[in-house]
Amino acid sequence: MKLLLCTECSDVQALSLNDVAICRCGKSRGKYLNEAGLAEFSGECAHLIGFNNSSFIDAIYWHLNNGDRSDGMGRRFEAFIIPEGAETAIRKND
Ligand SMILES: [Zn+2]
Repeated sequence: MKLLLCTECSDVQALSLNDVAICRCGKSRGKYLNEAGLAEFSGECAHLIGFNNSSFIDAIYWHLNNGDRSDGMGRRFEAFIIPEGAETAIRKND
């Protein structure tokens, strides 16, 4: 799962195949190009965040099946900044 992060307005939007995600300030945009997860994004302030899907799904199901952790913390999952040279992310010039 990829999300668009705009460092200008700090907005985060989930990418979609059907609609272009646009941050609140309008300076960052992105969308999926295909169902394989190839994405394009644009804007000087735009960055893509990736969720490790299996880690994210495991955390959701763990929470659904077990509820809140006894230590009051949320269930963790892996997320990362997608590098500029990643094969699954294309930066477009505005
Ligand atoms: Zn923005």
